[in-house]
Amino acid sequence: MSQKIESKLLHKNTKPTSMRILVYDFLSVQEAALSLSEIENHFDNADRTTIYRTLKTFEEKGIVHSIQENSTTRYKLCHDDCDEKTHKDWHLHFYCKICKQTTCKEDISFPESVQGNFRIDEIRLFAKGICENCLESLQ
Ligand SMILES: [Zn+2]
Ligand SMILES: [Zn+2]
Ligand SMILES: [Zn+2]
Repeated sequence: MSQKIESKLLHKNTKPTSMRILVYDFLSVQEAALSLSEIENHFDNADRTTIYRTLKTFEEKGIVHSIQENSTTRYKLCHDDCDEKTHKDWHLHFYCKICKQTTCKEDISFPESVQGNFRIDEIRLFAKGICENCLESLQ
């Protein structure tokens, strides 16, 4: 397992330190995007700054993308097509008012075919509502 993560990190030009491997491993099993405190709570013996720096490095290297939600930033792993130059996470981020989870809706995305005399560095698509699981339990 950790060897697979090592090669993923190396592929994104990131030195696979043990902390980075741990954080990547943890994020790779998450359905929802997590905030810094949620990630921090999982690692009892790591300090906040180390985790924060790990996430910042990951973001710069195209490993995670961040989702800004009011005053909270949440992080989710990127796909292989993100790199240190560009993030391509132009999909909808969905916040559920009931379970309070933010998830990536990758099948709903901004068309990549947009062309023009401009350069897009970042696109934010954000929606609030009730997720499929919570909707089901309401019925
Ligand atoms: Zn990305
Ligand atoms: Zn929900
Ligand atoms: Zn996303």
